[in-house]
Amino acid sequence: MTPGSRLIVAIDGPAASGKATLGRRLAAALGLPYLDTGLLYRAVGRRVLDAGDDPSDPIAATRAARALAAADLARDDLRGPAADAAASRVAALPAVRAALLDFQRAFGRTTGAVVDGRDIGTVIFPDAQVKLFVTASPEERARRRWLELRGRGFDVSLARVQADMQARDEADAARATAPLRPAPDAVLLDTTTLDADAALAQALTLVGR
Ligand code: C5P
Repeated sequence: MTPGSRLIVAIDGPAASGKATLGRRLAAALGLPYLDTGLLYRAVGRRVLDAGDDPSDPIAATRAARALAAADLARDDLRGPAADAAASRVAALPAVRAALLDFQRAFGRTTGAVVDGRDIGTVIFPDAQVKLFVTASPEERARRRWLELRGRGFDVSLARVQADMQARDEADAARATAPLRPAPDAVLLDTTTLDADAALAQALTLVGR
């Protein structure tokens, strides 16, 4: 990288793979802003649910995506099972993705950024200097998500969390627009047996720091 050029680190991967923790810590270590794009889809899903509409309805979901404001991203109800499911459904709609494209591309345009999601290395920043595809075993991802949900006060079984997560991953990977898949030039990072420090150390090595 030439001095002064902006560094974009694109991080993609399935649910609870550790990409958000890694993204946040990597951004702090590099002094870059961090964007969790899953929050955008979660916030759109929430707006649709609040309006009493169906998250799979393209008109209602696109209206919600175009109306998205900063306050929507600060809500404290974006992380439960209902928001998970609504996010995945609005995210399958091409017009919703199109409505969120410019905001994502503009983020960090002048400074660089660490951005995580499902299509960051493939669609949003295909020219990102660093692309990571973060995975972990389905069992470990379900365990992490279950612990997170219990920590937030949701009384859900591990089996239910694993089934919901598998359904969401399958929907994210099977959709026609911006499906979840590694960019051809992404480096795979399996965090199944890595703690957050070890994942950060590997990512920093890949970034060349
Ligand atoms: O990353 P997170 O689990 O918060 O994302 C919630 C949902 O938002 C995903 O299941 C996926 O359907 C959608 N999403 C997406 N593209 C992104 C980020 C999230 O389709 N870049």
